[in-house]
Amino acid sequence: MPRSLISILDLSIPELDDLIATANDIIENPAKYAEACKGKKLATLFYEPSTRTRLSFEAAMLELGGSVLGFSEATSSSASKGESVADTAKVISCYADIIAMRHPRDGAPFVAAQNATIPVINAGDGGHNHPTQTLTDLLTISREKGRLDHLTVGLCGDLKYGRTVHSLIEAMSRYEGVRFVLISPEELKVPDYIKYEVMDKHATPYEETADLEAALPELDILYMTRIQRERFADPYEYERLKDSYVLTPEKLERAKADMAILHPLPRVNEISVRVDDDPRACYFRQALCGKYIRMALIYKLLQETDQPSPSKIHPADYLVNVIQCKNPRCITNVEQELDQVYYPVNPEHGIYRCLYCEEKAKYTEN
Ligand SMILES: [Zn+2]
Repeated sequence: MPRSLISILDLSIPELDDLIATANDIIENPAKYAEACKGKKLATLFYEPSTRTRLSFEAAMLELGGSVLGFSEATSSSASKGESVADTAKVISCYADIIAMRHPRDGAPFVAAQNATIPVINAGDGGHNHPTQTLTDLLTISREKGRLDHLTVGLCGDLKYGRTVHSLIEAMSRYEGVRFVLISPEELKVPDYIKYEVMDKHATPYEETADLEAALPELDILYMTRIQRERFADPYEYERLKDSYVLTPEKLERAKADMAILHPLPRVNEISVRVDDDPRACYFRQALCGKYIRMALIYKLLQETDQPSPSKIHPADYLVNVIQCKNPRCITNVEQELDQVYYPVNPEHGIYRCLYCEEKAKYTEN
């Protein structure tokens, strides 16, 4: 069976280290990989436009000597004729060797991986997972700092809705000596489940602050994200706060000389263009890392043909068709033939999560 990548947590720490080592080897010896995937085809199934991510995947496959096919919006695809994700995955398995899927519904790439006979890479599903962005961030941090452990990581901006931030916390909480400084306005703080189910579970220390300037001196990494106006109920509150989360050369005077500044891009105005020439600004190098880590991922997944892909047969303690998922973005609420599957998180207290989108639900018998 093929191996797929749906969530960053599908990868163990040794597997992450191996991917990063492969990406570094590709950067140093590009000629060695120029025909590594010759004759192989990558299908980019993008049900919503994300040109940047799609081009990064396509460039990665072309530099490995492979070729690409696919579509870049749902209206031009069979999805507009009502074909299910499962059927599309089965059909594309006949044409291509690996799939990169972007979908507006949480859990859609997981459904594809259950049904494809080739590896599926989640290229972003709704507000849920975007593991290749997290891999990009990890490769960038490891190249800039020489390690992924024993770092103080500042995350700044929209920490409530920013899925790249949540995935980075999930990935880096597993490394020893990592500490987070969570910098955001009150309205956009990290959700409780990230605190309790991720950082507390790994005993990862963190502190919350609204003050970027005060937090700067202690940081090894500063991960900036965009604050969107529409996230604020009160537009005056947005106007009052927006400038305090804009990184400028003046604010950077307080930061360490070797701090690394990351941003998933696109940037709007949260990092002044005057910062771009500062050697600490890594965000364009980060975009380049995105191509190399995708090359490493495609190369590895095409080799791992005897690994388990997500099963449709569920363990006995899973709840199948007992709870209806309440997340309107969940793929199970669009494709009615899919089973509603919940896995136990804390069954003594009746806490379960949707297998597709991880929406939490409470259930007790009787
Ligand atoms: Zn769900």
